[in-house]
Amino acid sequence: MTEHVEGLGKLAADAPGLEIVTEGELLQETGRDTWMRSLMQARASGREPRAGAVLRPSNTAELSAALRWAGETGTPVLPYGYGSGVCGGVLASAGSVVIDLRRMDAVLNIDDVSLRATVQAGMRGSDFEAALNERGLTMGHCPQSIEISSVGGWCATRASGQFSTLYGNIEDMLLGCEFVLPGGTVLRLASSTRSATGPDLKHMLMGSEGTLGVFSELTFRVHPLPDCKRGQAFTVPDFAAGVESLRLIMRGGWRPAVTRLYDAAEAGRHFAGMAEGAPALLFLSEGPESLVQAESAAIAAIVEAQGGTPRGEEPVLSWMEHRNQVPTFDSLLDQGLVVDTIEVAIAWDRLSALYDDVSKKGGEIEDMLLMSGHVSHCYTHGANIYFTFVASQPDLERGLEIYDRAWETTMRAVHEAGGTIAHHHGIGRVRRGWLKAELGEGVELLRALKDSLDPAGIMNPGVLLEPAE
Ligand SMILES: Cc1cc2nc3c(=O)[nH]c(=O)nc-3n(C[C@H](O)[C@H](O)[C@H](O)COP(=O)(O)OP(=O)(O)OC[C@H]3O[C@@H](n4cnc5c(N)ncnc54)[C@H](O)[C@@H]3O)c2cc1C
Repeated sequence: MTEHVEGLGKLAADAPGLEIVTEGELLQETGRDTWMRSLMQARASGREPRAGAVLRPSNTAELSAALRWAGETGTPVLPYGYGSGVCGGVLASAGSVVIDLRRMDAVLNIDDVSLRATVQAGMRGSDFEAALNERGLTMGHCPQSIEISSVGGWCATRASGQFSTLYGNIEDMLLGCEFVLPGGTVLRLASSTRSATGPDLKHMLMGSEGTLGVFSELTFRVHPLPDCKRGQAFTVPDFAAGVESLRLIMRGGWRPAVTRLYDAAEAGRHFAGMAEGAPALLFLSEGPESLVQAESAAIAAIVEAQGGTPRGEEPVLSWMEHRNQVPTFDSLLDQGLVVDTIEVAIAWDRLSALYDDVSKKGGEIEDMLLMSGHVSHCYTHGANIYFTFVASQPDLERGLEIYDRAWETTMRAVHEAGGTIAHHHGIGRVRRGWLKAELGEGVELLRALKDSLDPAGIMNPGVLLEPAE
C-alpha cells in the first residue's frame, strides 16, 4: 500500500463537482472518530491521523465516481459521517482517502400520508429531525449525539436513540435505501410496506460500518408529533428492584418512550438530592392523552409494588433539558481521567447478575475510580446495560493499559453471561477481537460477504473484521 494517494487528477476530471481536499485542517478533522483510545494514542505519539485526501461528494453520482476511482487505483476508502463514532470506525492513514459525506445533506421527500421521509445520508441528525418537526412529524430517533452524527452514520453503526423503547432502533425505522457498492455500482432497495422477497438485504448493510460500501440515501418511517407527554421519576431500594420494574412494565405491554434505570452512583451524579444513595427510574410516556394517562398509572403501580418511591416529574424535565450535554473525552484526559462507556445487552433473567459481575470486576482494576451502569433501552425479552468506567491515569501508557483491561473485563463477562457485546455503538476496532466469540461461524459468512463485494479489501480496512492474516 502506498503512503500517499495517487491519481486524483483523473478523479477530478471524471467528477468535476466532487470536492477534493489534499491539504488543511479538514484532513486532520476527519482523520479519526471520537474513540477514546485513538485520542489517547494521538496524544501519546504527538501525531494526529490524517488521510492523503478528503473527497466531498454532494450527490450519489459523485460518490459513485469516487468509489469507482478508488477501485481502479486500489485506494483504501474510509466513509465519514460526522465522526461521532466511539469504536474506532474511522482511523485514517496517508495512503487512504476519507469520503466526507456532509455535503450530502438534503431532505429529498417527506410523505405525510404514508409517514415516510427520504434524506441524503450525510445530513446531520438534528437537522433532519428539525425538518420533520416543521411538518408536525418526528423520526423518534434521538441518540444523545443527534447534533453531532449523520443519518447515514446511524445506519452504518445500527444506532439506538433515547426514545427507542417506543419508537424502536434504527433497523425498525429504515424502510429503504440507496447504497453505493465498492467499484461504484448503485444499489437501490425500494421502500416497501413489508416484503417477503427473500432475506432483507437492508439488514446485510446496516451495521457494516463502511466495510461493504456507502449509504447514499435513506427512507425512514416517521410519526406525527405526540399530542401529550408526561414524565415521572422514582427511586427504588436497589438496582434489582429497578430491573424488575422495567421487566414487568415491558411484559405488561406498556411502551414508554423513555425508560431509564440509573444505579446509585449515576443517580447521585445526575439527580443530587433526589436519590439519596438509591437507584433512580425515569419514564417519559407520549402519545394520545388517554394512552399516556393509562400508561403513567400502570407504571406507577408496578414501580411502587417493587418498593419504589415517586419523585415527581421534575427529574425527567431536567434530564430532557440536559440529556445531550456531556464532557468531551479531551477535557476528561486533561483532568487525568480515562473514561469510556460500554453498552451491551442481555436477557432479563441475567441482567442484574451481569451488572453485579462487571461492577465488581471492573471496580477491582487498579486505579479504577468508578464502574457504574444504567439501563436505557428495554424490550420484552431483555435490555441494554450501559457501563461507564472512570480511572485515574498516572501517564498515557498506563492509561492505555487500564483502558484495555476495562474493555477486556467487560467483554469477557458479557460473553460468559450470554449477552451481546454491542447494543448500539457497533464494533469498529475496539470490539472486533470479540466478534468471533459472539458470531461463531457467522464471522466467516461476514468475511465471505466482504470478500465478494470488496475483493481488494479497500473499504474501511481494519474495521469490524480482524485484518486477514
Ligand atoms: C457524546 C456521544 C453520544 C453518543 N450517543 C449515542 C446514542 O445515544 N446512540 C447511539 O447509537 N450512538 C451514540 N453515539 C455514537 C455515535 O454518535 C453513533 O455511532 C453514530 O451513529 C455515528 O454517526 P456519525 O455520522 O458520526 O458516524 P461516523 O463516526 O462518521 O462513522 C461511524 C462508522 O460508520 C461509517 N459510516 C459513516 N457514514 C457512513 C455511510 N453513509 N455509509 C457507510 N458507512 C458510513 C464510518 O466509516 C464508521 O465506520 C454517541 C457518541 C458520542 C460522542
